[in-house]
Amino acid sequence: MKIMKFGGTSVGKPERMRQVAELITKEAEEKIVVLSALSGTTNALVEIGNSIARGEREEAKAQIEKLEKHYQHFVSGLVKENEFHNRAKSIIAEHFEFLNIILKISFSEALNKDILAQGELLSTKLFSVYLEENGIDHILLPALEFMSIDAHDEPQIGSIKVKLTQLLNLHKGRRLFITQGYICRNIRGEVDNLKRGGSDYTASLIAAAINASVCEIWTDIDGMHNNDPRVVKKTMPIEQLSFEEAAELAYFGAKILHPASIWPAQFYKVPVKLLNTMEPDAKGTLITGDAGSVGVKAVAAKDGIIGINIRSSRMLLAYGFLRKVFEVFEKYRTSIDMITTSEVAVSVTIDNEIHIKSILKELEPFGIVEIEKKYTIISVVGNEIAQTEDILKRLFAALTTVPIRMVSYGGSKHNISLLVHSDHKIKTLQLLNKGLFDLD
Ligand code: ADP
Ligand code: ASP
Ligand code: MG
Repeated sequence: MKIMKFGGTSVGKPERMRQVAELITKEAEEKIVVLSALSGTTNALVEIGNSIARGEREEAKAQIEKLEKHYQHFVSGLVKENEFHNRAKSIIAEHFEFLNIILKISFSEALNKDILAQGELLSTKLFSVYLEENGIDHILLPALEFMSIDAHDEPQIGSIKVKLTQLLNLHKGRRLFITQGYICRNIRGEVDNLKRGGSDYTASLIAAAINASVCEIWTDIDGMHNNDPRVVKKTMPIEQLSFEEAAELAYFGAKILHPASIWPAQFYKVPVKLLNTMEPDAKGTLITGDAGSVGVKAVAAKDGIIGINIRSSRMLLAYGFLRKVFEVFEKYRTSIDMITTSEVAVSVTIDNEIHIKSILKELEPFGIVEIEKKYTIISVVGNEIAQTEDILKRLFAALTTVPIRMVSYGGSKHNISLLVHSDHKIKTLQLLNKGLFDLD
């Protein structure tokens, strides 16, 4: 059985959805198809949630109306016959009625998650109507019945496996299953999600849970490129990546993959393919245990980084100092991306501000603590890159005009990370494109 995941742009227009139906019926292998919300929907739902949270109900109402019109227009282009059109319309009515009811309830984070879940529920149900109209036999598997996260927002892979297998067993002999990406239940049984871009994570978790033959991530570009195509003009697709390389790129900002989406496939040894819905015959990127080659493959950038610097003369010869520092971050479940130390100071970076106040308060007794915001981590990724001769020379030769705040080299064999101010991100990516890949 294989997994095919289609992102927002791949289902964002009626003709795209029709193309998805074609792609999933091309070959006979049994499959689970994971769909994102139509492109733009989750952003719109975030806005609706924000308006409700601010108490701007009229604004939220107008946003809901606008989104509903978009869906009505969408189904007019998707289904032809009256019977199916009516069915699609009643699905839209049901979900928008829910949003309108929420308008009248007092706002809570749990309610917000309910709002965010509407996109994937709508896309899969509408796709199911389209498949029915076209006589394509399938089962709609509700993700909320098997996808779950624990108290620390980590997927419960054991339980996902058991529940999904039970569900599939109820439909023995059926060959096509459709389910929602992104959405799940949390430890309290409430509707929750796997964070933005989470449909990739859903696909990989399902692939791991059922030991799929392959996990295909279908999107709007022909695979992982050597640089961020949103920032740099000339980029090229990479044919082969190891799980380690792909995981580093995803974690350090390559938006094509959710930051955590590689580990389930890696752990359960399921190959991942990145493919282009708009260009299905393009090679794309194959991700397996085999990197295929040694050396630099790609660069990626992760924004919103905060640097924390702790200076203390007491650190001099003091063993146990770093442990105490790390314990503070551990206590607040905040992971550190980069670290550099000197005899009198330690700098670390984190990627979220949720617990920053508490963290700073607890660090203060250790010395002088300073924070720097608006930083970007630029990661240069490639198999055994740290052992590649002259890599540092090429890297720094390319970046003579960019101030570099921190460097991380040697921690991972596949990654060299640089910390730069976010104002220098675009320039850094462009210079590296020329200096490392000879692309302008
Ligand atoms: P989907 O909606 O299918 O999940 P995403 O927008 O999440 O698609 O991811 C695909 C986008 O990721 C591409 O359109 C591209 O702009 C962006 N992207 C950023 N970095 C890379 C990269 N290194 N390689 C390919 N795409 C990238
Ligand atoms: N719809 C969700 C988002 O926009 C999940 C996804 O597309 O992967 O973040
Ligand atoms: Mg995505």
